[in-house]
Amino acid sequence: MTPPQTKQEQLTLLMAELNRCDLCPLCSGAKHKVLGEGNLDSPVVFIGEAPGRREDETGRPFVGSAGKLLTRLLTGIGLSREEVFISNVVRCRPPGNRSPKREEVEACSGHMETLLRIIKPRIIAPMGNSSVEYFFDKYELGKAVIGDAHGKPKRVTEEWGEVVLFPLYHPAAAIYKRKLLKELEADMAFLARLLLL
Ligand code: URA
Repeated sequence: MTPPQTKQEQLTLLMAELNRCDLCPLCSGAKHKVLGEGNLDSPVVFIGEAPGRREDETGRPFVGSAGKLLTRLLTGIGLSREEVFISNVVRCRPPGNRSPKREEVEACSGHMETLLRIIKPRIIAPMGNSSVEYFFDKYELGKAVIGDAHGKPKRVTEEWGEVVLFPLYHPAAAIYKRKLLKELEADMAFLARLLLL
């Protein structure tokens, strides 16, 4: 009997599948397809929107200015990037850093669903409109309005058990907006408490 694959082996297979992917027009323009990185046993997965220029160049998620803020927010609640898992709803950079379109998010969703089934997180933290919208649609939570939804945990059911969906503002939105930054910091502090439960 073949032994069950480790999470790392499953991730390697997913990366190979992703490298062959041509499900949407974004694939052909990407220098790197950005699957995500971090701890495959993390209880929380942060899911942003799509790679930007730096992420496309390096193949790593959240390494530009939004990533610096995300790293700082994580440090603020006593976590390092390596302790959590960070990904996006879309794996290839949209031209001109525009937000991903619904059909692009939909085309890319299979990769993310496989990723989530590998990690089996207890908390999913979508960041930004397109990510929050995707998960609100998926769990049939109605219309996603990030200004109302952020920082409010919602219990949902996944194949691997009960999961808390915890929407957050996108760090890029908080870089120049002090009010949003304060709210994001407060939401991260709440997330830290959820992680202790
Ligand atoms: N913004 C995102 O949504 N994701 C990244 O990886 C970088 C910036």
